[in-house]
Formats: sequence, structure tokens, C-alpha cells
Amino acid sequence: MREILFMKPIFKSMIWGGNRLRTEFNYKITDDNIGECWAISAHQNGDCIIKTGAYKGKTLSYLWKNHPRLFGNRTEKAFPLLIKLIDAKKDLSIQVHPDDTYADSYQPGSYGKTECWYILGCDENTEIVIGHNAKDKNELRDMINEGRWKELIRRRPIKKGDFFQITPGTVHAIKAGTMILETQQSSDITFRLYDYDRLDNGKPRQLHIKESIDVINCPHRDVLIEPRIIKSSEGTIAELIRDKHYTVQKIDISGTMTLEQDKDFMNFSVIEGEGEIDKTKISKGDHFILPYKYGQFSLTGRMSLIVSYIDKDI
Ligand code: ZN
Repeated sequence: MREILFMKPIFKSMIWGGNRLRTEFNYKITDDNIGECWAISAHQNGDCIIKTGAYKGKTLSYLWKNHPRLFGNRTEKAFPLLIKLIDAKKDLSIQVHPDDTYADSYQPGSYGKTECWYILGCDENTEIVIGHNAKDKNELRDMINEGRWKELIRRRPIKKGDFFQITPGTVHAIKAGTMILETQQSSDITFRLYDYDRLDNGKPRQLHIKESIDVINCPHRDVLIEPRIIKSSEGTIAELIRDKHYTVQKIDISGTMTLEQDKDFMNFSVIEGEGEIDKTKISKGDHFILPYKYGQFSLTGRMSLIVSYIDKDI
């Protein structure tokens, strides 16, 4: 099927959001607290509409249900991935996600969440929260009950281009001044562990201490990222992660690259620059899917893209 499925993104106002999705990605949005752009999503809380072509006006969830061949007749009940851009003007709460088994017992039919972050940009001296310092569940419980957050929470400095894999059970948070592209399992189950004792409309936001302690991995283990890099004169492909939930690549192009879409489907987000895919113009902020059996395609221009797909061989 030689049809490119261009997505109409969905924007979410958040108390911690900012305006960089307008000022840096040129989206036509007026709200100054936009925290998230759901760029490729069929989730019930934000279902993208196809912008052009044969399926114009249809939602991604509609296509998943009614035209399964576009996605290689995969067996999941819903489109399994969710691609977001996030603009954190303020710190996000410190949180953790369950795995598939815990998620299904907590909210039957739900998936857990494995997610990964590509840092699109950040202010100077920005950090993220990833991991914790408790050696076992008992110490974790004590540190939480005694409010020893500084001691418990691990922070690390970040810079543009860094990449992090957040497996279920990993304590994590994005801090103020960060923009990321997130590739994740299509799930919305988050357990909030700590919200910096902030108030939202005079009240603290709900925490999920019991569930957090249930699912947090002890001790924490970082996932080591060692990108596999393929270079040619026209650009670079860096495979950032290859996991059973998704494979994520960053493609940098200056010239023309001819590649093969031989997966069930492939997600693309242009994060920098402009160019063409098979003679169709694309630029920063565009998101699209190449469906099953699309075959060979060429990317031309000076641009960077984040690509994701599900590898059957894992
Ligand atoms: Zn998360």
C-alpha cells in the first residue's frame, strides 16, 4: 500500500506545560501551557486523525480496526505504540509505570508501559530523574515513609541528543526546561510517587504510594544505551534501542537515502529540518506512518527523524 498516513497531532494542556511546541515546532496553538503533543496515537484519550489521502478524516483507531492490513494484520486489540512530544516548563511529578501483568490486574485489559526519551533540547544544567538509591523494598518503604526524597531519588545531567530507556518499575521524571520525543507502549497508567509537595488548586495531586512500592524495581538498574550506527555519505542511521516493545532509530539526512519499509508499520517524526519523502514535502513537526508492504522509499533533504517500529524477531 503506497499511502503515507500523515497524522493530525493532538495537544494537551498541562499545569507544567509551556509554549515551545508553538515557538520551536510552529504548531498553531494558542494555549501557553501545552505540555504534550500526541503525535502518533490511537489511544482513547487522544486519537489522531489522518490529514490527507485515501483515509483523510479517519482516526488511527478506526484504521486499526477496519483496515488491519495497513498494519500487517497484527493481533493487538489497539495500535500498540504512542509517540509524544513533551515540553516541560516545570518539573513533572516523580512517577513509575507497571509492567503488562500488573497493569492487567490493576485495570483489566490495559498494557503496562515501557517508554523511551530522545532529548530534543534542554536548558543549560538541566537534569532528569532516573532511578533511586534504595537497596531493597524495605529500605525503599522506609525512605518513602520518612520523606527522605533527596537521598532516595537519582538525578543525572542531560544534553540534547541523549536517549533513555525507561522500563516498567523505573522511577523517573522530566524536569523543567526539557523537550523530549517519547516513544512508548500505548498505555496511560502512571503511578505518582512524589509531587515535590506542590499544590494544584490548593490541593496536593493524588499519589499512588502503595502501587509505586509494588512495582518499583529494587535495586534500580540503568539500561545501558549503546547505539548501533550505520553511516553513509548521505546520512546516518543510529539504532537507539531494540526492545520487544519497539525499535527506535534516529535518521540524519543530508542528501538522499533510499530505505526499505519491510515491517508491519513504521512511525516517523521529523524533529529537525525539511525535505521530502517520495516527492512529498515534509518538515519539522510532521508525523506519519508508512503502512505494511510500503516497500522502498527515499528521504531527501537536510533533516533528522525519529523512527519506530516493532521487530517481530525479538
Ligand atoms: Zn513515564
